[in-house]
Amino acid sequence: MTCKHLSKLEQELIHKAIKITYRGQAWGDNCREWVYFECIFVDLEQTMKRLELNQEKLEIHSHYGTHDGQEHGLVCKSCKDAIMGIHPASMEQGKFLKYV
Ligand SMILES: [Zn+2]
Repeated sequence: MTCKHLSKLEQELIHKAIKITYRGQAWGDNCREWVYFECIFVDLEQTMKRLELNQEKLEIHSHYGTHDGQEHGLVCKSCKDAIMGIHPASMEQGKFLKYV
């Protein structure tokens, strides 16, 4: 379970039966719990507002690499937890649910 700053979003995604593809320390010790969902977050500012998440704690993280994968989601700066989705620039983005 991710920290209290992110858990509202995690709960909602699980409730909507969005598939989790990975859960754990994705980038080593700098991470506590990162959860990867099979969807694309197209407007995270709006998602944070909608769920009344603490925007002081969270930051949008976006990574699009050719070799080390791609991801786009929210990281909690205090707890080092994160919720990630597929990067909107992914070649296969058409296959995934767009989430706001
Ligand atoms: Zn947190």
